[in-house]
Formats: sequence, structure tokens, C-alpha cells
Amino acid sequence: MSLTNAQFNQIMRVYDERQREDNRQLEDRRRMAYQKLPELKTLEDFVRSESLKTFRLMREGQKDKLSALKSVIEEVQKRKKEILIENGLPEDFLELRYSCPHCRDTGFINGKKCHCFIEMQMKYLYQQSNIDKIVKDQNFDHFDINRYDGVKPILADGRTNRDYMKENYEFLQQWIRDFDKYHGNIMFTGSTGTGKTFLMNCIAKALMDNYHSVIYLTSTDLFESFSKAMRNDDEEQQEIQDAILDCDLLVIDDLGTELNNSYTTSKLFYVLNQRMVFHKSVIISTNLSLNMIRDLYSERVCSRIISDYSIIPLYGNDQRLY
Ligand SMILES: [Zn+2]
Repeated sequence: MSLTNAQFNQIMRVYDERQREDNRQLEDRRRMAYQKLPELKTLEDFVRSESLKTFRLMREGQKDKLSALKSVIEEVQKRKKEILIENGLPEDFLELRYSCPHCRDTGFINGKKCHCFIEMQMKYLYQQSNIDKIVKDQNFDHFDINRYDGVKPILADGRTNRDYMKENYEFLQQWIRDFDKYHGNIMFTGSTGTGKTFLMNCIAKALMDNYHSVIYLTSTDLFESFSKAMRNDDEEQQEIQDAILDCDLLVIDDLGTELNNSYTTSKLFYVLNQRMVFHKSVIISTNLSLNMIRDLYSERVCSRIISDYSIIPLYGNDQRLY
């Protein structure tokens, strides 16, 4: 299975629209800044016209004049940034801002698909839930500690679910801050309605906001992608396999709901192990207990999880509404 031409064109249209939107926003910012600080327009016009001269000097090989002109332009650019900062604006206010700075919203880096392209490609190929839309509601801005019961003690030491979730919340915030340093892994366990998927989406969103690549797959999609890759040896399947192993964060939702067999067992170990070797993070959610994981996926999968994952059991069923 690979992208049809229509799907490919649809993805390219998303990039066209993103670039138009980036330009529109820059124009809005420009208009606003020029109105408030007209000097900025003079400086930008100067840079634009002088930059054209550099091409001519380069062509003519006038190295001395070229480097003199370049340093003048640099000075003016510096002055522009100073004015912005003096007026409480960010220094990149008059520059294009991209949804994906890696490929500058083109989808490609040196002719190779960017991770953002591959993530979009996966959405088409697996009809998986569109994480961009989900995380609009499911993010830490919508995390409300009061949704967790603060009355009934649920832990042996008398803590309520709210006390417990406050600690989890702090832990997850720290985990996100340390993401690039420690490459941690998390497994959320607990029955339906405990808010596992919600927390995973919150984490995914926080990392995506920092330009990390995130792939979100249900465990069924994950194993399906491997068997498809085995059946169809095409370039796209290879890209997807690479992305599953390479992305900054792999989210595996609902482990244990797939059709389990010796194939899924060996693939799960392969994915967890490869990602561990290359210091890449994984978050798993599951209804299964560790004993059940041992029975279903083998001792080595279970011990990998015990030794390398922060296991966070979730309680209560207060989060059914999420
Ligand atoms: Zn990109």
C-alpha cells in the first residue's frame, strides 16, 4: 500500500497552504510593526536593495566591496533586532515563522521527505486518528486536577486520586523538560476511563510544540504497519518503518488490543529494543497488568519495560468524559 497520486497531491496542498499562511502572518506582523515603528520599514527597504547589489558584486568578483557591503547589511539587521527588542517584540518578529522549521514547511529536506511529511503520510495510510486535531482539546491547558476525586483515599497511605495525580502531573512536566536529556519512557496502565490516552496526548502536544517529531499509533496500527512492510517492499513502507524507529517520541496506544501472536511479540520487542538502543522515547498505554504483559509478550518484553520505563498506574474512572 502506498500513497495514491491524489493523496500525495493533497499533502502537497497542505504545505502550499502552510506557506501561504506563514507569508500572510508575516505580512500582518510587518504591517503592524511598520505602523508603530516606521524606521523598521526604512531599514528593511535598505537591506532589500543592498542585498540585490551583493549579487552583482559577487558576479563581478569584487570581494572587497562585497565584504564591506555584507558587514553594513549585518549592522542594519542588528539594529533592526535591537529596535524590535526595545519595543518589547521578539527579535524574529519580521521573519517567517514555520510550523516545521526543519523543512521550512516545504515537506522536504535536500530532496528527502521531512518527518512532518512522513507523519502526514501515515495518517493517510493508516487512517489513524489525526493527532493534530485531537491535541487541540487534549493538552495540558485542559488538564484539570479537580476532575480527579479528592475525597476517597485510594492508595495504601491514604492519598486520594487527586493527590496522586498532582504528583503525576509534576512528574510529567519534569519528564517533558528533561526529554532531550534523558530520553525517558513511560507506560500508563489502568482500565478504560482512567485518562491514559488523554495524558499521552497532553505529552505529545507539549513535545510537538517544541518541534519534536511524534508518531502516534494504536498497537493494531503498529503491528499492521510491520506486516504491510513485509508484504509490500515499497519505498513508502520503508520510510514508515524508519520513522517508527527514528521519531523523537513513539506513542503506542492500547497495547494488548491487537490480535496477539508470536509475530507481534517479536516485533514489539524489536521496536522497544531498537528505540532503547538509539535513545528514543516511547510512551505506551495499556489495560494489561505487568503479569499479563509477561504472559502475552514474553519475559524479555516485560523485563525491558520494568527496567526502562516509568510505570504509572492510573486509577478511578473519573476521566470517562475526556
Ligand atoms: Zn518538516
